[in-house]
Amino acid sequence: MPDTYRGIAPESVLSEVEALAAGLRGHALQHVNSTRKGGGVAELLARLVPMFESLGIRTRWDVIDGNGDFYDVTKSMHNALQGADVEFNYEDREIYLECLRENSKKLRLDADVVVIHDAQPAYLVDFCDFDRSRMVWRCHVDLAQPNASVWGFLSRAVSKYGLAIFHVPQFAQPLPIPQVLIPPSIDPLSEKNRELEEEQITEVTERFGIDRARPVVVQVSRFDRFKDPLGVIRAFRLVRQNFDCQLVLAGGTADDDPESAQVLAEVHEGADGDPDIFILSLPPDADFEINALQRAATVVMQKSTREGFGLTVTEAMWKGKPVVGGAAGGIPAQIIDRSTGFLVHSAEGAAFRLRYLLSHPKHATRMGKRGREHVRRNFLITRHLRDYLLVMHSVLRGCPESPIWLL
Ligand code: UDP
Repeated sequence: MPDTYRGIAPESVLSEVEALAAGLRGHALQHVNSTRKGGGVAELLARLVPMFESLGIRTRWDVIDGNGDFYDVTKSMHNALQGADVEFNYEDREIYLECLRENSKKLRLDADVVVIHDAQPAYLVDFCDFDRSRMVWRCHVDLAQPNASVWGFLSRAVSKYGLAIFHVPQFAQPLPIPQVLIPPSIDPLSEKNRELEEEQITEVTERFGIDRARPVVVQVSRFDRFKDPLGVIRAFRLVRQNFDCQLVLAGGTADDDPESAQVLAEVHEGADGDPDIFILSLPPDADFEINALQRAATVVMQKSTREGFGLTVTEAMWKGKPVVGGAAGGIPAQIIDRSTGFLVHSAEGAAFRLRYLLSHPKHATRMGKRGREHVRRNFLITRHLRDYLLVMHSVLRGCPESPIWLL
């Protein structure tokens, strides 16, 4: 595997991957999450699982089943964990726990290390008959200011795991188990991120009626309120008072996200038929189209108000784009403010930075180049793989005593 990434990823990381994988050959790893398509977790697992396999580590990816009530409850848990003030009552808990109890009857946890992703399957730790010290909980949401009651409930399960992984230090929590900080990553060779010919990019923009002769501002995101698509429209309208430009809001839904249709309707209402605002509702496998839209962008935005990580920021920086991002969650770990893009706190702030980038194209290009190098060093899948291999070694040998350690 590492050979494919030679000349792209840092050489030191590739040697570490080889050395660490050699000691794990023949071992088994299992991931469990709540959707195979849509959102960052599915995006990451779809790339990581075959890479583990190619290193000789038997790897399985299981997805829990749930009905509409379960996903309604887990979506409000997700919102609450990111700080929303939602009601989470006894009945909600019962719907959640009952669904996981049912899943535990069908799910076979039999690898050497099991990684459970996010809140949806977290309570499996209570129902599955498996050595908890070899169970890892990986959090992908913005836990900087969680709703106390929902986090109180969830943390009782998390405390039973052998180890927890968070994306950035701000999300770490008081827990009686070791915590590890590992940021996510992108695969530079995936359909979403591979190099494209100019004609391929133009084919996609023409298909959607986007004019490449005029500047294009792009935000790619599930239609979710924390991604603040209405704030993006507000910023765009302020910018358009001075610049002739277009806005693309490209998004989709995820199987475990029941709110997206409603948010999409609000976005259509906010755009109010503006012919320069392109609202694209894409299927979950539209990787080529997203790649082309990110490459067609003059500036990429990710104006989230809460954000687990925001893979779309790294995706855009890898494509050499300056990024204007909300100063929330994992975004400040990616955007070096004023160097690879700008961190913003409001629609007005976003408009101010967008105006600057649209009127200083040379500076925008330099920022984009720095962003690509920042991603190469820190956010490629090879580094992520190395960190997971370290976790596997650590779990199989018994975790260190210290409560938080950095990889
Ligand atoms: N994405 C996609 N289609 C969409 C919207 C998003 O393929 O319509 C991808 C996006 O390119 C990124 C991932 O889904 O790879 C979203 O991850 P991120 O961390 O930005 O946000 P999340 O959805 O996990 O909150």
